[in-house]
Amino acid sequence: MKNYREYTDASGVTQATLAKSEKPEDVICDFCSSAEKPQTAFECRDFPMGEDPLGRQHVSTGGFNACPTCAKYVESGNREALLNRSVENFMREVNGSGFMSRSDARAGIKVIHDLFFRNRNGGAK
Ligand SMILES: [Zn+2]
Repeated sequence: MKNYREYTDASGVTQATLAKSEKPEDVICDFCSSAEKPQTAFECRDFPMGEDPLGRQHVSTGGFNACPTCAKYVESGNREALLNRSVENFMREVNGSGFMSRSDARAGIKVIHDLFFRNRNGGAK
């Protein structure tokens, strides 16, 4: 089951994304996957994201887009609210078929958020 799309960026790195395309109108929030506009981009160093279910390594490159709600949570350092919102949206919008349990989704999303805050340029709040 593949609920994401892969593309190769300008540097030749293969990325996984939930966005339909790279077009600005298709950009989604990198935290909660919502298409709510406008987006804020938070600078972030590239970091390894670990293996996907097929054993391939993925790397996060570039900044993280955030919808207005997630941007507010990132700026205020409210990581619990950020995680709760992201898990709720993931379960509703991405995990409709129930391929992932809520606790697994929460654990996986938390790892990515923790990596973001650790690698965010300017330091985590
Ligand atoms: Zn969001």
